Amino acid sequence: MGLLRRLYVRSCDPGWERAAEGWRSEGMTDCLFCKIVAGDIPSEIVHETPTTVAFKDIHPAAPLHVLVVPRRHIDDASVVTEEDGPVLADMVMAAHAIADTAGLAVPDRGYRLIFNIGPDAMNSIPHLHLHVLGGQPLKGHFALT
Ligand code: ZN
Repeated sequence: MGLLRRLYVRSCDPGWERAAEGWRSEGMTDCLFCKIVAGDIPSEIVHETPTTVAFKDIHPAAPLHVLVVPRRHIDDASVVTEEDGPVLADMVMAAHAIADTAGLAVPDRGYRLIFNIGPDAMNSIPHLHLHVLGGQPLKGHFALT
């Protein structure tokens, strides 16, 4: 069992100390992205569906850098289950719609979708989010820098 999975499982234990960096599965009153979804923190929202919200990354790594998040809190991709399948499909379809609006969903362009999990991947917000990157030819493949 990986660290994140352990943290997730522990977070589901109601008796567990809830001060553990926000690794909780529900009632995420201190989750940044839950607050953005709720409209409590402003963001530059570019796309919304009944199950997802997409907003510009505040530290863009490409001309188009949008984060697609589920409205319902999911810690990260390591704890996704089969029942999350529909919302994951919604996230990918939202990403495609965003890329399409940006003119990137055509054969000679394209875009990149990334899920980061855990510290080694520099995942800093423990609410599942899909990075949508594009707008120029993306150098590298999976970035070691
Ligand atoms: Zn959240």
